[in-house]
Amino acid sequence: MDLDLSAEHQLLRSTIRDFMTKEVAPVVEEHEREHRFPVDVVKRLGEMGWLGIPIPEDEGGAGLDYVAYAIAVEEISRVWGSLGIIVAAHTSLGCGPLHLAGTKAQKDRYLVPMASGKVIGAYGLTEPGAGSDAGGTRTTARQDGDGGDWIIDGGKRFITNAGQAGTYVVTARTGTKDNGSAEISAFILPADTAGFRVARLEDKLGLHASATGELVFDGCRVPAENLLGERGQGFRMFLEILDGGRISIAAMALGLAQAAYDAAVPYAQTREQFGKPIGSFQGVAFMIADMATEIEAARALVWKAAWLKDQGRDFSQTAAQAKLFASEVSSRVTNAAIQVHGGYGYVTEYPVERFMRDAKLTEIGEGTSQVQRLVIARRILGLRIG
Ligand SMILES: Cc1cc2nc3c(=O)[nH]c(=O)nc-3n(C[C@H](O)[C@H](O)[C@H](O)COP(=O)(O)OP(=O)(O)OC[C@H]3O[C@@H](n4cnc5c(N)ncnc54)[C@H](O)[C@@H]3O)c2cc1C
Repeated sequence: MDLDLSAEHQLLRSTIRDFMTKEVAPVVEEHEREHRFPVDVVKRLGEMGWLGIPIPEDEGGAGLDYVAYAIAVEEISRVWGSLGIIVAAHTSLGCGPLHLAGTKAQKDRYLVPMASGKVIGAYGLTEPGAGSDAGGTRTTARQDGDGGDWIIDGGKRFITNAGQAGTYVVTARTGTKDNGSAEISAFILPADTAGFRVARLEDKLGLHASATGELVFDGCRVPAENLLGERGQGFRMFLEILDGGRISIAAMALGLAQAAYDAAVPYAQTREQFGKPIGSFQGVAFMIADMATEIEAARALVWKAAWLKDQGRDFSQTAAQAKLFASEVSSRVTNAAIQVHGGYGYVTEYPVERFMRDAKLTEIGEGTSQVQRLVIARRILGLRIG
């Protein structure tokens, strides 16, 4: 058993850490304050080859493994949660379905520009009435004659990279199965498709520099060749995509927790009250000890899930466990970091309040903590748990 990262993984980690610290950290606060999407930084990430890390080279990506991708998302999120979710949504949710189910022609046309960082991707699954119950999709797609265009009507909500993406993958109901459940298919939707628009962007608790928006499809027509995968395979595809996506949200949670811890430790060592560093009070010291322990445990789970995926082994349960645990650790650790900072943690002069606001999303996106518990319990018990 070898728990050390490979030399390549270590190099990737130090390269991204260096880049994030030197080039990105100085512009974080202004973008967050102005709720401004970091167009230039995302472009730079693309140039560095970090917008398609786990996608094969012949599909435009870097051809690295999922452990590398988890490391990258952690390091990016450690400096900037908004950038972490932009990259995770683009890579796992935007590029992922095209890599999984795209034809050669679809990959050449859509995936290569995305994975090489020239076009941003997004994934539209969630709807106003279909969140945790993503199968409750109301958006429809009907085919205009045999082999004709698909006409999409409906809408999506909470879509990361909305308004910034050049290519969207969206799910829609294409019929009803014999058992009465919805037949769901996936479609590739270029941003300039007539009948498609981003209606509005959300004003959020955190992740202010990321874009989260509402998509509207109004007689939106895409050619037959934009069906992604087989008709009716959309539901199965998104379950598979979400398994991988959960590893990236777990890595994002981890990065935010690490950032909060990195801020709390020196603060506890240097802030003095009652004539001593506050870290010498057991009440504060034990918070630091718990933070360090939980972060280490979360990282072990995240890397294990990524490693299982890289081995081609079943990683679904471990990915759900990693996402569940890392996101809840992230909320606890970022909250504790504010506590360590006292009043200074509550004000925007210090970054720890941002880490806490950003971390909360990781308990919600790509399946809430309750949904992760359902996934895990169903796997263990083999029962239908509602
Ligand atoms: C910033 C942000 C970015 C996002 N990005 C994307 C994106 O790029 N693409 C995309 O498709 N979606 C995206 N989402 C949507 C996200 O995946 C959903 O918000 C999430 O799946 C929860 O759905 P919901 O908000 O409708 O909540 P609901 O499903 O209504 O859940 C409400 C509450 O009920 C609980 N609940 C629901 N069902 C059960 C159950 N069976 N058992 C126990 N508890 C249950 C939930 O855990 C939660 O606590 C994003 C959301 C946010 C906030």
